[in-house]
Amino acid sequence: MLQYKRVLLKLSGEALAGEDGYGINSQMLERYAEEVKEARAMGAEIALVIGGGNIFRGVSDAARNMDRVQADYMGMLATVINSIAFQDALERQGVYTRLQTAIKMEEMAEPFIRRRAIRHLEKGRVVIFGAGTGNPYFTTDTAASLRAIEIEADVIVKGTRVDGIYDSDPEENPGAEFFSQISYIDVIRKNLRVMDMTAITLCRENILPIVVMNMNERGNLTRLISGEKVGSLVHP
Ligand code: UDP
Repeated sequence: MLQYKRVLLKLSGEALAGEDGYGINSQMLERYAEEVKEARAMGAEIALVIGGGNIFRGVSDAARNMDRVQADYMGMLATVINSIAFQDALERQGVYTRLQTAIKMEEMAEPFIRRRAIRHLEKGRVVIFGAGTGNPYFTTDTAASLRAIEIEADVIVKGTRVDGIYDSDPEENPGAEFFSQISYIDVIRKNLRVMDMTAITLCRENILPIVVMNMNERGNLTRLISGEKVGSLVHP
């Protein structure tokens, strides 16, 4: 028995950049694809949302003089670049995948169709959701929460570089307090940077559990799915 059968995994763009800090690091890509493959092999259904911050962020310095909406469209396109790279990495490892985008680009990907996405998952395909929500002023964390709710995922997993949720940035403050479990309301009250408020609120209103865990520790995803205590759990 799996603890979580249907999982939406959210990876930031930065995760794909690895130590490079920018662009796509092929070793990181392979690593993450392996983790997803292993989780799939255990029988979990995996959907993915990948950010775009390694390529472009609508609120970045590069976008300072731009119209926000235009910049956000660039950000959404950046998520599609990452999604195609991840799809390619998975397929090279023999994992069946489908890419669905929130903005139609039918030569490259299917449009997002909820029922079809669920069918793909049931058939064992990894479904990657690209182009965020398709709307400016949103983030890929919000896109991930929305898609997780739509596909009735059992959990949304946010893969990060740290072990979970802390009261301050553990990379800057070694004495940061770690929360192995925390309620949605406390995340909001303490203004913890788990996800942006829109995303947290969406999860809270739909009682979707969030796990924040270290994606750079090999095997964490499969450990979590099989019921081990990994990372931090946000619950009602
Ligand atoms: N974006 C958007 N709408 C969405 C999702 C993303 O406009 O629904 C844009 C936005 O400009 C954002 C960029 O895409 O800054 C990249 O997404 P995000 O910053 O969430 O990526 P991550 O931090 O996860 O790499």
